[in-house]
Amino acid sequence: MHLNRLMKIEKLISNNITDRGEDHFSSNSQTPLRSDAFDQSDDEKIIIIKEHVLAILETLGMDLTDDSLKGTPLRVAKMYVKETFGGLHPDQKPKASTFKNSYKYGQMLVEKNITLYSTCEHHLLPIVGRAHLAYVSNGSVIGLSKMNRIVDYFAKRPQVQERLTLQIVNELQQILGTQDVACVIDAKHLCVNSRGINDVASSTVTSEFGGLFNNKEKKREFLDYIKLDTKF
Ligand SMILES: [Zn+2]
Repeated sequence: MHLNRLMKIEKLISNNITDRGEDHFSSNSQTPLRSDAFDQSDDEKIIIIKEHVLAILETLGMDLTDDSLKGTPLRVAKMYVKETFGGLHPDQKPKASTFKNSYKYGQMLVEKNITLYSTCEHHLLPIVGRAHLAYVSNGSVIGLSKMNRIVDYFAKRPQVQERLTLQIVNELQQILGTQDVACVIDAKHLCVNSRGINDVASSTVTSEFGGLFNNKEKKREFLDYIKLDTKF
């Protein structure tokens, strides 16, 4: 009787976790990192992750002495720490240099179609998409490529798209010293496209509009620029 009840509770908990994963629910704009996240060096992490990747492949029955497979655990471990999840490390954060808006440009600046590669934190599968950013300067401007770098920094983490959108906007607001920042992300989640519901065509759009961009006309102007089909 007692054991039965325990099993029921366990099933409830595991169902809940699965549901939440499929729903891609997130309530906080901070990446949920532990306080000891960087006690270990990158090299130490690579050694530990290598062993775990090896264990996964071995559990699946793969022959790790095969020439094609023997380098995989180390390759994946390096990729996780240095590339795929490299944006977890505060040292990788792009330097926040701004310039004076000496040409007195007073309209919105839009940078659209910024390529985005991230990883869904519920399935560890890729999120591939485009980010579109806009801001109205209140005295300082930022180098254009810095906007790409900020997108990339926050994308290189286990992510949910809602949090990624907020993190990009919050960072730009802080660097530029203004609330007048907006971001729209349109992305494909391979956990939706290539497994589970297997919907190849669907993509997910998220947006965050700060300050002036809550004004209907400003929002419309930004969204119209994104729609421009620029050919060069
Ligand atoms: Zn997912």
